[in-house]
Amino acid sequence: MEKRDELYSGKAKSVYLTDDAQKLILFFRNDTSAFDGEKVEKLARKGKVNNKFNAFIMEKLEQAGIPTHFEKKLSDEESLVKKLDMFPIECVVRNIAAGSLCKRLGIKEGIDVSPPLFEFFLKNDELHDPMINDYHIQSFGWAGEDDVAQMKTLTLKVNEILKKLFLDAGLLLVDYKLEFGRFNDQVVLGDEFTPDGCRLWDVTTREKLDKDRFRQGLGGVVEAYEEVASRLGVEI
Ligand code: ADP
Repeated sequence: MEKRDELYSGKAKSVYLTDDAQKLILFFRNDTSAFDGEKVEKLARKGKVNNKFNAFIMEKLEQAGIPTHFEKKLSDEESLVKKLDMFPIECVVRNIAAGSLCKRLGIKEGIDVSPPLFEFFLKNDELHDPMINDYHIQSFGWAGEDDVAQMKTLTLKVNEILKKLFLDAGLLLVDYKLEFGRFNDQVVLGDEFTPDGCRLWDVTTREKLDKDRFRQGLGGVVEAYEEVASRLGVEI
């Protein structure tokens, strides 16, 4: 697999074209950002931990019947994926109240959200990723009716798979964000699943082991990601 030009440089990953028009290379950088790119830092080892963590989770999801873009890990920081036509949408599921949900609705952090909540957000940093619904998505052509249904079904199916996987490792899956795209008319899970895009708490102490450590200046960010990886049995 030959790496070609950089297609896109995001806040945490760089995306490269390859000699195969249907495949991309994702390079997981050490850059860490929060608050729509306002707070940015480089955290040693984060790219490597996230690449390996993501590969582990994507493989688990694929085995459980979720179509994903993941092909294989190429190096410590790089993975080969299918090139998707991404929807400009973030799909969020919440099992426990935290983050913007608490701010938006005055809900106390830590209360159980039952049944789990599903939310759509528009992927747009300038607008601070506003919350949208099915109607916005269809009226503005960001995705079709069937795509919307698929994104919901797949995101909630991921919840059932991963809640159990994390609980078996002593972790609560508080919430997470997924991004999907189209590949040959199929809705496929893209981007990443790492502690950068989800919240994970220790089941007993409720200690935060995710990007909230960075957002809230708690320190030990990558150490927490490594702890989560080690509990799941991910080799770093
Ligand atoms: P951001 O764009 O939010 O700053 P990243 O730094 O993670 O995020 O950049 C990765 C970019 O690559 C994102 O815009 C994401 O939507 C896109 N992407 C992820 N997986 C794929 C894929 N399989 N095909 C095409 N684009 C992808």
